[in-house]
Amino acid sequence: MAISPQLTVRLEDVRAARERIAPWIHRTPVLTSRTADERMGCRTFFKCETFQRTGAFKARGAFARLTQLTPEERARGVVAFSSGNHGQATACAARELGIRATVVMPKDAPALKLAATRGYGARVVFYDRAAGEDREAIARRISEEEGLVVVPSFDDDGVIAGQGTLALELLEEVPDLDVIVTPCAGGGLLSGVTIAARSIRPEIRTYGVEPEAGNDMQLSMERGEVVTIPPPRTIADSLQTMAAAQRTLDILRALSAGILTVSDLELRRAMAFAAERMKIVVEPGGAAGFAALLHGKVPDTAGRKVGVVLSGGNVDLALFGELVAGL
Ligand SMILES: *Cc1c(COP(=O)(O)O)cnc(C)c1O
Repeated sequence: MAISPQLTVRLEDVRAARERIAPWIHRTPVLTSRTADERMGCRTFFKCETFQRTGAFKARGAFARLTQLTPEERARGVVAFSSGNHGQATACAARELGIRATVVMPKDAPALKLAATRGYGARVVFYDRAAGEDREAIARRISEEEGLVVVPSFDDDGVIAGQGTLALELLEEVPDLDVIVTPCAGGGLLSGVTIAARSIRPEIRTYGVEPEAGNDMQLSMERGEVVTIPPPRTIADSLQTMAAAQRTLDILRALSAGILTVSDLELRRAMAFAAERMKIVVEPGGAAGFAALLHGKVPDTAGRKVGVVLSGGNVDLALFGELVAGL
């Protein structure tokens, strides 16, 4: 079914991605919590991508894109630019599929994410985000010099279709969801989820949640064009994009997805709630959707069924302790 004729990613693409990635990824659990329901006045269903391979939903998009490559492209290899989770996911997918991967990472990326990316056998090339170096330009240069396929973390139809597969799983378990809330950076996750969910259940509402300090998607949706912001200062390292893509903006506008924001303190409270009450370790960016719901920012949820995507759990334990202590 086509929910909007001009969309470049359709439900069929998400379903096809799901078939291709099924041998490689986990079907993650959907957990419920009575304490959370009482606290938020709605019925919550947590889609726990914290338990996905590589610790975040990004494995879905990476496997979906890499399984689309031609034999010639596979033989040349791929290059990704990422502050962490997408780099790990691309490195993992590449290793499983026997493809060489290069990952362009900020030189201040969390040690855990750097070690994991290298652990999957990827070559890591650093850039300086504080100095305003353009990681995408670096990746494109390497791609041209070495003939590698660039695998973007959100500005790609194959990746978006892969991210949408989590919504297929979620709606199979809870077919009558009213709302889905996800974290949002470049909007690939929200785009895939919105396309899949709205195709299956047209009345469902979807919201993406950004850090207050990094609300480029919210600004872009308001202005109707891609807005670039300075490097955001937030604890949510996985949500530090400076600009979304025309592709994701077009999808989210066509389907009227909502964009909300949360503060770092709200992220920390959501992380603490998930750890203390639900025994789930969520990284700061991964808690954004939950943080918005927990703080009453998601419109019209009273008595509704709300899907909450906990998108990743890759956080250094010492940092985690600091962030959840003393709230
Ligand atoms: C990448 C990432 C996001 C944001 O995904 P986009 O598709 O860029 O919006 C959210 N949470 C985690 C844990 C991520 O790694």
